[in-house]
Amino acid sequence: MDDRTFRNAMGKFATGVTVVTTEFQGEVKGMTANAFMSVSLDPKLVVVSIGHKARMHDIVKQTGKFAVNLLTRDQEDLSRLFAGQLKEERDVAFEWVDGHPILPDAMANVLCRVHSTYVAGDHTLYFGEVTHIVMKDEPGDPLLFFEGKYRSIGQ
Ligand code: FAD
Ligand code: NAD
Repeated sequence: MDDRTFRNAMGKFATGVTVVTTEFQGEVKGMTANAFMSVSLDPKLVVVSIGHKARMHDIVKQTGKFAVNLLTRDQEDLSRLFAGQLKEERDVAFEWVDGHPILPDAMANVLCRVHSTYVAGDHTLYFGEVTHIVMKDEPGDPLLFFEGKYRSIGQ
């Protein structure tokens, strides 16, 4: 099967959009990811799948922790930025919670320490044990990704 057929089919599965963030050697690093899932309630686990070509892969391996920032519909530009799709560089203001850099104004921020990893083909699944959650009372609507395009609820 060719890659395009696979990606087109996977693109039929509508998802939210996250930015995975971590701090490494005094610098904040972020990467856009939609391969995110809630896994277990006891213990509280989530998983994010990170490609081996992504710099984030080597970085999370070393930091042993990450935050998953669930984006709102107003944060499409942040998704493009952390996917390397913007030409210009941008200064992003992060908030710090429990030693994690997080994106303010996200739907929620899920702070994790790496619980376990599983190599799956050209990606590694990073299971995170959730250590803290930040959630707004009225976060607004989520940013969605469907058929390779950004959407929002009702569109
Ligand atoms: P880099 O190329 O190192 O960084 C990406 C961009 O973020 C760069 O432009 C960099 O300048 C910017 N950046 C990083 N840190 C900061 C900072 N502190 N301040 C300002 N800018 C910063 N890939 C996956 O592996 N798994 C997925 O689930 C996944 N889902 C995706 C979903 C969508 C909707 C999209 C658009 C892409 C997705 N990708 C996913 C692809 C992934 O986001 C890109 O391939 C990414 O660029 C690779 O990450 P990297 O660590 O090599 O990033
Ligand atoms: P697309 O048509 O490439 O993506 C549609 C769907 O295909 C995605 O939601 C994802 O489920 C799957 N997919 C795409 N690339 C994949 C990969 N390398 N490994 C595993 N699954 C993948 O959408 P697009 O707008 O062309 O994507 C923009 C860029 O972001 C592309 O370079 C794409 O490879 C990358 N991306 C990577 C992942 C991932 O690694 N899991 C997920 C989404 C997008």
